[in-house]
Amino acid sequence: MLYIVPTPIGNLEDMTLRAIRVLKEVSVVLAEDTRTSKRLLDHFEIKTPLRAFHAHNEHAVVERVVDELASGVDMALVSDAGTPGISDPGFLLSRACRRKGVRVECLPGATAFVPALVASGLPCDTFHFEGFLPHKKGRQTRLKYLSALPHTFVLYESPFRLIKCLEELKEHCGPEREACVARELSKKFEEVKTASIADLITHFSSKEVKGEIVVVVAGA
Ligand code: SAM
Repeated sequence: MLYIVPTPIGNLEDMTLRAIRVLKEVSVVLAEDTRTSKRLLDHFEIKTPLRAFHAHNEHAVVERVVDELASGVDMALVSDAGTPGISDPGFLLSRACRRKGVRVECLPGATAFVPALVASGLPCDTFHFEGFLPHKKGRQTRLKYLSALPHTFVLYESPFRLIKCLEELKEHCGPEREACVARELSKKFEEVKTASIADLITHFSSKEVKGEIVVVVAGA
């Protein structure tokens, strides 16, 4: 069995009881960054050995990991924060397990886009999750596609590129389109601001933008 285990996106209280139990019970925890996950495991007194599984080695090790799982070794997959597979390694392993008949269970838990979307106050009955936009090639094509969607869409963005991203959104969606910047969710300086794209640019240009960010944009 492979357990895909979400971990907190900032607030350690968001670790579920089940996540702690599963991480204690499996034989190996596959981790995006073993040092980051070691700190989390230490905090919850979890002694399970960690093994690296990240974007740079997943193609090379995925078949070996699936063979071990198929032979009866239970493992858990964690990423640095949130749910593995959501803008993090996870898809490749989940697909390889399915193809080999290995059971996969993903525990419900922390992820950044759900609280951002729901707290934004923008329609969340139907939405599109985009994650990170490409930095260069294909970025404008994606923005053009997204700007025409009839429903809310969600982006992950770095604080250094937030203003550039909002400027591009203004160009493609118009200055009056409603959007939300959700920053530092579940942390001390959490900020969720919903306004027109033009007003968001004014607000976030007036100070240095820090922390982790989700951008939610209303549909056309
Ligand atoms: N797997 C994670 C999830 O389930 O949301 C996402 C991992 S992705 C590499 C990291 C991005 O998620 C950040 O750049 C940011 O856009 C978003 N993010 C993560 N933690 C956040 C937080 N506490 N507040 C706002 N956004 C966050």
